[in-house]
Order: sequence, then structure tokens, then C-alpha cells
Amino acid sequence: MIEGGCNCGAIRYRAEGAPVVVAQCHCTNCRKQSGSAFSVNLLFKAAAVTHEGDLTVYEDTDTLSGNPVLRKFCGRCGSPIFSETTDGRGMLVVKAGTLDDPAPFAPAVSIWTATALPWVTLPEGQMTFEQNA
Ligand SMILES: [Zn+2]
Ligand SMILES: [Zn+2]
Repeated sequence: MIEGGCNCGAIRYRAEGAPVVVAQCHCTNCRKQSGSAFSVNLLFKAAAVTHEGDLTVYEDTDTLSGNPVLRKFCGRCGSPIFSETTDGRGMLVVKAGTLDDPAPFAPAVSIWTATALPWVTLPEGQMTFEQNA
């Protein structure tokens, strides 16, 4: 069982099983949302993740596919928690920094390396994609 939550404790979540993939995302939208150089995303089937607390939702329509991404965050402390795709695949991204213990989830993949910052060094042996995987 994987657990996590926001900075202020208003949001808590649980995920069943292991993530499908752990990816570093270097896209400009993840950069803005995380306030950091990149985002570390755990991809789950949406049905595997449950949460408590009220998430605020930003409908991000600035996507390559044209399908909006629902960016869900704590409206009280601002921690980004989930990103949900609306392409019908039923997948949910959990932001690794909000896990109680992110240590076991080294990202195996980097996506959107086309917009990665020049001073970010990717882990050796990582699979990379210029855009989305
Ligand atoms: Zn919070
Ligand atoms: Zn991204």
C-alpha cells in the first residue's frame, strides 16, 4: 500500500499495488505546476487510487493531444497531488513528492526531454522520449 498527502494534511491518499511506470516529466506545464525543474510522476490505473479531502481541479487544456489534463491540488496549501487524463484510458498520475516515502520510486523513464532544462542531468540508463512516451 502506497500512501501520501499534501503539506497541510487536508488531502490524504492511498494507492493499491505498484505503479505502471515512474516517469520524470520535463514538459513546461509540469514545470509550472510543480514549481521545479521537472515533475516525478507515478502512473496508476485511476481505480487503484482513493483519497480523502477536497481537491481543487485545474482543467489544463494546453496539451499536445487536445485532451485536457485535470490537475488536482490542495486548495489550502497548494500541493499538487494528481493529474488525471481525459483520453478514456482511465489513468491517474500521482506526484511522487507527495508520497510519504518516495525513496523506492526512482524514475525509469524521462518524457518531454525536448524541453528539459540544460542543467538537469538524467540518471544513467534511463529511457528517454523527446515528447510523450
Ligand atoms: Zn494541503
Ligand atoms: Zn508533464
